[in-house]
Amino acid sequence: MPETKSTCPYCGVGCGVIIESEGAQITGVRGDPDHPANFGRLCTKGSTLHLTASPAVQRSARLLQPQWRRKRGAAPQPLGWDAALALAADRFADAIRAHGPDSVGLYLSGQLLTEDYYVFNKLAKGLIGTNNVDTNSRLCMSSAVAGYKRTLGADAPPCSYEDLAEADTVFIAGSNMAWAHPVLFRRLEDAKRARPEQRWIVVDTRRTETAEGADLFLQIQPGTDVALFHGMLHLMFWEGLTDAAYIAAHTRGFEALRDAVRPWTPKEAARVCGIAEADLIQAARWFAQADRPGEAPGATLSMYCQGLNQSAAGTDKNAALINLHLATGQIGRPGAGPFSLTGQPNAMGGREVGGLANLLGAHRDLANPAHRAEVAALWGLPSVPERPGLSAVEMFQAAADGALQALWIVCTNPAQSLPDQATVRRALERCPFVIVQEAFGSTATVAYADLLLPATTWGEKVGTVTNSERRISRVRAAVPPPGEARHDWAIGVDFAHRLEQRLPDRLNGRLNGRTTLFPYALPEQAGDDGRSGAEQIWNEHRESTRGRDLDITGLSWALLDEMGPQQWPLPEGEAQGRVRLYEDGRFPTDDGRARFSAAEFRPVAEPRDARFPFALTSGRLRDQWHGMSRTGTLGRLFGHVSEPVVEVHPQDLARRGLKDGELVRVTSRRGSLVLPVQASDRVAPTLAHIAMHWGSEVLTGLGTDGTPIPGVNGLTNPAFCPGSKQPELKHAAVSIEPARLP
Ligand code: SF4
Repeated sequence: MPETKSTCPYCGVGCGVIIESEGAQITGVRGDPDHPANFGRLCTKGSTLHLTASPAVQRSARLLQPQWRRKRGAAPQPLGWDAALALAADRFADAIRAHGPDSVGLYLSGQLLTEDYYVFNKLAKGLIGTNNVDTNSRLCMSSAVAGYKRTLGADAPPCSYEDLAEADTVFIAGSNMAWAHPVLFRRLEDAKRARPEQRWIVVDTRRTETAEGADLFLQIQPGTDVALFHGMLHLMFWEGLTDAAYIAAHTRGFEALRDAVRPWTPKEAARVCGIAEADLIQAARWFAQADRPGEAPGATLSMYCQGLNQSAAGTDKNAALINLHLATGQIGRPGAGPFSLTGQPNAMGGREVGGLANLLGAHRDLANPAHRAEVAALWGLPSVPERPGLSAVEMFQAAADGALQALWIVCTNPAQSLPDQATVRRALERCPFVIVQEAFGSTATVAYADLLLPATTWGEKVGTVTNSERRISRVRAAVPPPGEARHDWAIGVDFAHRLEQRLPDRLNGRLNGRTTLFPYALPEQAGDDGRSGAEQIWNEHRESTRGRDLDITGLSWALLDEMGPQQWPLPEGEAQGRVRLYEDGRFPTDDGRARFSAAEFRPVAEPRDARFPFALTSGRLRDQWHGMSRTGTLGRLFGHVSEPVVEVHPQDLARRGLKDGELVRVTSRRGSLVLPVQASDRVAPTLAHIAMHWGSEVLTGLGTDGTPIPGVNGLTNPAFCPGSKQPELKHAAVSIEPARLP
């Protein structure tokens, strides 16, 4: 039976899988024992991947041919690829000619492979001439990107998974990694079993599965992370626990930070966070390894995720945590450093190729004229556009305001995942031309498409992804695409060729005698599974990294095939990728020094009040992924949690005369949902939690304008962080009342 090594398409742990197949059918999956992320382990989602590719699922859930709608609301009609892409190119060309390049937008996904991301980024910024290209990674990682860049000078997680076993203190903030990154959490449990003296501090608004294993759990009030980190730093200053030599040799901005944290006494910080002062003090001492005087310095590893990122102060939260590492010299050593966990399988790869509206490839900044000139030179263009593009929330707000003529949504489901769904629905209804490129036909966004383009998915795709520890893994096809599905990058390239023909005036002088900006072999031309073209794209991306912090000029697909997954950077001349960054104390800033961030604490964007007295937060379930388009096809993955509930503390139920299981109406300023309430002491009083996965099929509410809204994001707040533009999905003020049903 043929076996193919590939990568799990779910989370940012990036586990290696071995796919078993028979003819065109995937028949089994198991963990790859040689993959350095998982060493053979898989979680419930990864180990059932083959079942999501069964013939029954392929027949019922997949998009298998291009389709178009004569008008909105009509049943989609089949269309050949040639006609479908001609229609797409015509509509985009018309919009660009009549309204300019910024009248169109592309919305991508952290599920895409690096090669897909590269093509769509080049299509928007190179060919069309707009920076209106953003991604659902904006909803999950952009605060981590901005936090790293503000403090360390580059978007590069400095740690590796092997640091989990080396750490003496593990500080987990805003991450339920036991459910969201299960295999990585198993590695952490292994580390603690091997070294019971390892200490875990968990910071979260909920007592999650992860918190159950903590030596110290800080159940903070929503949005108070910066106050906590400033309070811990205040205590470290007061008790002389900072590393003065490291601060003097490797950082800048220390005095401003000291002034910023001066008011944050442990007592005041603990009051704002709603925790015991003694716990905050204990956390600070453990973080700074205060109980190891005279010994070799202990190591502190932070791991963090959406609890810090999905916030209107997300960049400040990330930077304030990194302050703690810089102030104590807990970085650039085994077991030490700030380690942001990526949510999606290739959020990291998307960042590498510049797949966000404010970025350019190889960690270049759109706002930097020299970086724009470098990218233009790499693409053989006179320039790339300077005007900042629309980020995720801004793009859909612009469409709702009538400012976009065409929107191309690739491999993501904004009609469930973006905050403030009533606005998203208006955007999708108002935008004159919407393309949805998808593998699955069941997403809420599909209903709004004028043109549906069927894409390949796990088990069929060819390319690369990068996981949380900067490790690039190959994705390989075990079976051919079903029906007429094509690779995402190939659809983009075929479209680009057609747009080039329709806009020769725009490209006149830009192509420099070339016939196309996209000279990659389509699978049907190369007569292969897509490997030739995908490798050409990857090679072009590799060249763009030369001399950059993520330089991979020493890497090739041949090397990945021979040696297995590799970490970046891996510059030409080096034998293997770097496990740990900043070991020499030099950072990728002008002067080689890291920067402290003296950001002030800012509370949540929408505080609770008498009308909306609960703080609503959302999070993942163990066995589901995103909007369930894949995991929702398997009954067995509903065995863990089978229906949506709102978790509320028993005291709040008693105070409101509610009973466990009773239907309640949860209302925010943007809409309301009706669902069962569940008594739960995992949430603190006045906190409520709804899992993010449930969509319109099981949980539909009403927006304040009467628009149907799907799931928790009908209620969430579109306010976003000014530094990262990541929306505050983790907090909305709501009321909870008994439901009065008609
Ligand atoms: Fe897939 Fe993540 Fe589970 Fe690994 S931990 S098997 S990458 S979902």
